[in-house]
Amino acid sequence: MNHKISLSESIIDIDLKTPFSSVDTSFINQFEQTLETFYKKEKKVVAVNSGTAAIHLALILSGVEEGDEVLCQSFTYVATVNPIIYQKATPIFIDSEKETWNMCPVQLELAIKDRIAKGRKPKAIIFVHSYGMPAKIDEIVAVSRKYKITLIEDAAEALGSEYKGKKCGTFGDFGILSFNNNKIVTTLGGGVLICKTEEEKQKAIFYATQARENVNYYQYKEIGFNYRMNSFAAFIGISEFKKLAEYLKRRLDVNDFYKKYFIKFSNITLLKEPSGDFCSNHWLSCIKIDGENTVFTKHTLMAMFNKNNIESRFLWKPMHLQPVFKKYPYYGTKIAESLFNNGVCLPSGSNLNRNDLERILTSVKKIL
Ligand SMILES: *Cc1c(COP(=O)(O)O)cnc(C)c1O
Repeated sequence: MNHKISLSESIIDIDLKTPFSSVDTSFINQFEQTLETFYKKEKKVVAVNSGTAAIHLALILSGVEEGDEVLCQSFTYVATVNPIIYQKATPIFIDSEKETWNMCPVQLELAIKDRIAKGRKPKAIIFVHSYGMPAKIDEIVAVSRKYKITLIEDAAEALGSEYKGKKCGTFGDFGILSFNNNKIVTTLGGGVLICKTEEEKQKAIFYATQARENVNYYQYKEIGFNYRMNSFAAFIGISEFKKLAEYLKRRLDVNDFYKKYFIKFSNITLLKEPSGDFCSNHWLSCIKIDGENTVFTKHTLMAMFNKNNIESRFLWKPMHLQPVFKKYPYYGTKIAESLFNNGVCLPSGSNLNRNDLERILTSVKKIL
């Protein structure tokens, strides 16, 4: 049997010669500085133990409280939504548009108008760059400014992606990244909150460290969380970040390989940038299969992959269709739903070599 090809394996290559002190937290600050430099010192960065924690902190800093409404992209991973529920707030789900598969700015504005008409102005917007593809950022930022609603940018999958030459994660009032083990750079569990001011950064660190008051005994006036990144994760992050360019190149090469093949098929669309303004990191390469071709469907493709020990996945099942979130409002048509019905995530890891790619293609060719 051939070795298993994973959907999104990330390589870690660290050199462990120096003894590691459990109380030395300097790597955490260093990792934050690495990212602040990456964002040209225009942003403040807080290292935490997951992307989910970073979203939760962004909501807390946005003042989202019990009963508030938060507009949220439906086509995403569940971690985008759960923190809204942690705050006892209400998610209002928004459909995608066809080009980037991310939040539809038109549906977003319709939703805002309708929520205001119903008597409650939403407190925040969370949009996502799914699979690394930048959303229609200008349009979404314009809507958030027009209605003065805090914008949270879930760039968990979009490290290295850019829009109009500017890095994803820097467009919202708050941004977040994830360094989970399937992301392009991993710390084996970790994330960051990206914010604008030192005050916001200190407030985020306060809530991430159990909201301990700054006195020399243990005193608390608020509820906090154990969300700080550990120093070993930060150590891994510092070292791994140096290889970001290489990891991005590998993901791009995988995407190019698929592009060359799938271009021949008019009914198969590989997710691609709508224009030169968009630059995806191609975290995952994904296809959407249209039309009535009964031979090549997401089911036959995934079954063939499975038989050949190759991992693939469905595209996100939209959050508004999830049993646990069904009761919340949704604005849209069926764009996200049709992506779920017709799409597949192809193996995209930064460890894939030529042989792996040929093996994947052989499986595809067996059906086509
Ligand atoms: C991975 C991911 C997260 C959360 O990251 P964790 O580090 O796993 O908590 C959030 N949003 C999206 C879209 C993600 O893909």
